[in-house]
Amino acid sequence: MTGFSTTGADTTGAEPTTAATADVLTTTSTERSAAIMARARTRFPGGVNSPVRAFGGVGGEPFVAARGEGARVWDADGNEYIDYILSWGPMVLGHAPRVVLDAVSTVMQNGTSFGMPTGLEVELADRITARMPHVEMMRFTSSGTEAAMTIARLARAATGREHILKFEGCYHGHADGFLVRAGSGVATLGLPDSPGVPDALAKLTLTCRYNDLDAVAKIAREIPLAAIMLEPIVGNGGFIEPTADFIPGLRRIADETGALLVFDEVMTGFRIAFGGARERFDVVPDLTALGKVIGGGLPVAVYGGRADLMQRIAPSGSVYQAGTLSGNPLAMAAGIATLDALTRDVHEAITAQTARLVQGMRDLAARHGVPFTASHAGSMWGFFFRAEPAINFDDAKQSDTALFKRFFHAARRRGVSLAPSPYEAAFMSAAHGDREIDETLDRLDRALGAALAGRD
Ligand SMILES: *Cc1c(COP(=O)(O)O)cnc(C)c1O
Repeated sequence: MTGFSTTGADTTGAEPTTAATADVLTTTSTERSAAIMARARTRFPGGVNSPVRAFGGVGGEPFVAARGEGARVWDADGNEYIDYILSWGPMVLGHAPRVVLDAVSTVMQNGTSFGMPTGLEVELADRITARMPHVEMMRFTSSGTEAAMTIARLARAATGREHILKFEGCYHGHADGFLVRAGSGVATLGLPDSPGVPDALAKLTLTCRYNDLDAVAKIAREIPLAAIMLEPIVGNGGFIEPTADFIPGLRRIADETGALLVFDEVMTGFRIAFGGARERFDVVPDLTALGKVIGGGLPVAVYGGRADLMQRIAPSGSVYQAGTLSGNPLAMAAGIATLDALTRDVHEAITAQTARLVQGMRDLAARHGVPFTASHAGSMWGFFFRAEPAINFDDAKQSDTALFKRFFHAARRRGVSLAPSPYEAAFMSAAHGDREIDETLDRLDRALGAALAGRD
């Protein structure tokens, strides 16, 4: 029906469950998934095309997706889940939304790629600038990695400086310079987080604790920074919010020291507020990276900001960056349809559902008497098994990760798809109605009971 079925799995709905206990929804068999993964492991490192999909953080057989519709996904074994991974953020309208499928199938009749400018690129760009006026000019790429990587290049070219400051627990894609371990203490002269990243390059990336403005001020005065780059709300170290003075403080420090302020909104864009971080925090960055939601599930990212900076990009300027499939028409069509459907009213509605889920989770955790904190910004949310909200990645790491693992598996067995790591944000879509939220809370209540009893 949607054309999204990829494995020939039974998509006609779940058979009555044969699971061991009545409160468990999924079958205990993972035959088809296991067979696919066995073949995948001979072709892909770890059997996957992006590491987190391998479930290294929680163990067990990875989720092999067969189909999605609205708030739900089905795995290759026919199990149905209410999904909060949502492709790690892009599916803000839910899976296989009709408006996006129609837009893509209409556009694709005219060809799938030209390597020439198209009107669709301008249409999507106009929609982005309408919501984020500080993104005066931009350049589309196919991944957030490319966008963040190019921002670093542009910031260095524009300032004539080499060092970039990032924060522990923030992810900016896998370009060499960003794969830098966050050390303890105030700041660490970067050590590579991955073999293959040259020390010489890693040393140009400095790292501070999130929300530690004093440390930033100290470094920025000692070392000329090309850019201070952050996730305005952290999603890649678990869900971590900035304290009230943090983002305005970064703007002030950047201005005082001549650094550029960069918001990596690949995850937060069009989720934490209708207009993103600028609207939420009332701070204007010099450059912004976007991705995920703006492609509506197709590969699109973008970097942009001040026109005087963007004019330095080739061919207007001399900072080189290119992409064969950049601005791909199918991807542009998906992005346009997604942003058109994501009106301010729809954003508010998704936000309200997110608030309801988060409050419901706090309530059920309280009933179970377990240390728990959960919060959300717009349609992005997260939780930790710890009493106090986390304000940096060290806090996040001090949550009860063993309980998280049991809870994750218990939730999966009851038909709720959560990110397979305590250090990943969760998402909500326009397709998650009251019924899905109620079902989720009921399932998570039972899942938490099982996890606390040491079961899954
Ligand atoms: C996902 C993400 C990226 C990387 O985007 P890809 O499209 O996976 O390369 C960069 N920054 C942030 C904040 C992200 O969440």
